[in-house]
Amino acid sequence: RHYLERIKRHDGQLNSFITLCEDSALARAREADIQLASGKPGPLAGIPFAHKDIFCTDGVRTSCGSRMLDNFIAPYNATVTERLQQAGAVMLGKTNMDEFAMGSSNETSYYGPVNNPWNPDTVPGGSSGGSAAAVAARLAPASTGTDTGGSIRQPAALCGITGLKPTYGRVSRYGMIAFASSLDQAGPMAASAEDAALMLQAMAGFDPRDSTCVDRPVEDYSAGLNNDIRGLRIGLPKEYFGEGLDPAVAKVVEAAIAELKQLGAEPVEISLPNAGLAVPTYYVVAPAECSSNLSRFDGVRFGYRCDNPRDLEDLYKRSRGEGFGPEVKRRIMIGTYALSAGYYDAYYLKAQQARHLIADDFKAAFEKVDVIAGPTAPNTAFRLGEKVDDPVTMYLSDVFTIAVNLAGLPGMSVPAGFVEELPVGLQLIGNYFEEDRLLNVAHRYQ
Ligand code: GLN
Repeated sequence: RHYLERIKRHDGQLNSFITLCEDSALARAREADIQLASGKPGPLAGIPFAHKDIFCTDGVRTSCGSRMLDNFIAPYNATVTERLQQAGAVMLGKTNMDEFAMGSSNETSYYGPVNNPWNPDTVPGGSSGGSAAAVAARLAPASTGTDTGGSIRQPAALCGITGLKPTYGRVSRYGMIAFASSLDQAGPMAASAEDAALMLQAMAGFDPRDSTCVDRPVEDYSAGLNNDIRGLRIGLPKEYFGEGLDPAVAKVVEAAIAELKQLGAEPVEISLPNAGLAVPTYYVVAPAECSSNLSRFDGVRFGYRCDNPRDLEDLYKRSRGEGFGPEVKRRIMIGTYALSAGYYDAYYLKAQQARHLIADDFKAAFEKVDVIAGPTAPNTAFRLGEKVDDPVTMYLSDVFTIAVNLAGLPGMSVPAGFVEELPVGLQLIGNYFEEDRLLNVAHRYQ
């Protein structure tokens, strides 16, 4: 009730929720009460959370921030939804997001932009902008996000909260509306690393319904939070501290690293020589996969259908033309072009090769260090409308986050301080399946 009241009071200004689930939340809270009284509560019994509107939720609208799915009531639960429910968590509602998770400012949403709670004239970041703003404004203690190219970490940084993108394959993608399947990964967004650990514990684990989900035991993410980090080698990629990084943001990140040093960690300068290839590589791979994934939205089986189609061709064209927004159309066109006969080798194949180089850079780095640290985003939250007409500038918001997705590594953003009253995030990158180590470093730092 506390959180539902806060949502009603404050979300008119923020627009962080698309759908509020008041009745079902109260019913689930009562069930959690019974669980608690029975002495066998789930690990998250009665803990409210906000769910990104990209996860299918049985009987509840799942819009993915798009007019295309504005009328879509999911007929089943995503695995993440299912697991959080089994743990006893209470879904308060579904959060606003960039359309089909394509964006870095939440401004591509069909439901309008989200305002950053720290300054309503600025963006919350994206694509999980609603999830980040809701936690920052204490409309929910935690939320879910997805990260294809930074969409958990960048909004977490811009809103001053903690967000974790797990290793690719750690969390099931079943029932999570696909953007770029080889990059998409779900993760927790919360007020602290400790809370993120509890959320991830409930979300992670093998699922036979996602063929890329990895069958290996899930670590106890809370157990090692307080481990000593003395002697831990922290790699500082020189490419992440140069051109494009706002000097004021760099100062905050450097101060955070100095604090880690005080805790006994050892900073080591490293190089990720192919870091500059990450954004261009991503903008071939992600649109290519999206153009394929989004072909299912054709106005026939589900989602938006245009009025009075003349014939089948007209039905396809107008349903997609009217159902998708401009950014989604741009991605579909880029992806279709990059995959077309005669261009495949020049673009898609080349991008796959560059992706290997990027992953190899990290592999070499993790032979020398335990964790990599740097800024999450090059700037603090920018003004609403500032970058909407300049897609390339918008794409550069993810210059420090995207390589992690291409390599499939876990990455995290932790609040590190402020520049002119706007939050700055410290990014921590770990080796495969070392989410526990990231959480440990983040918790000690916090
Ligand atoms: N901002 C990036 C994009 O627009 C990443 C989005 C994401 O991680 N979902 O594609």
